Amino acid sequence: MIYNVASLLTGSLGDSERHEIENETIVIDGRTLSEINGSIRLMRTDATVLVSADFEAVTHDSCGRCLEPATVNVNVTMEEEFSPTNASLVSSTASRPDEEDYSYDPALVIDEQNFLDISLGLGQALLSALPIAILCKEDCLGICPICTTNRNIVNCSCAKIDVDPRWAGLAGLIGKGAESAD
Ligand SMILES: [Zn+2]
Ligand SMILES: [Zn+2]
Repeated sequence: MIYNVASLLTGSLGDSERHEIENETIVIDGRTLSEINGSIRLMRTDATVLVSADFEAVTHDSCGRCLEPATVNVNVTMEEEFSPTNASLVSSTASRPDEEDYSYDPALVIDEQNFLDISLGLGQALLSALPIAILCKEDCLGICPICTTNRNIVNCSCAKIDVDPRWAGLAGLIGKGAESAD
């Protein structure tokens, strides 16, 4: 997910390009985000390239309640400005990133060859959009703390609230009123 933005940087204010991203994968902080699909728009501002992107991705983990495999779909909208390292391409009136200023986010820098890489910024955006608790399904019944049975599969007798697994999804929809389902 690397774009050469030399022509954008030497072009006019407001120039833009659109790119589609299909089935990409990013590995960040040990987590694999795959099936990344979406579109990205690159627009020249006075001193930067504004990236607007809309993505969906998938990640796999184990369920926080029952430890079975869980698939999480994540959607993210990202809008970030990338600053060029090669300041000579930017109009002289524009404010430039100071070479001594290391406060710039390295994920948001266009390199010397005018390549803009959105992988890291996108990966960070996707990570922060993940739910804190990853579940195999919203109404996962988890593991019984007494007999360690996966209550999505077997309705163990130690459970105080007996919900037939075949009806668990429906019970979740109906809410508290369905606690005594047969
Ligand atoms: Zn689960
Ligand atoms: Zn049990």
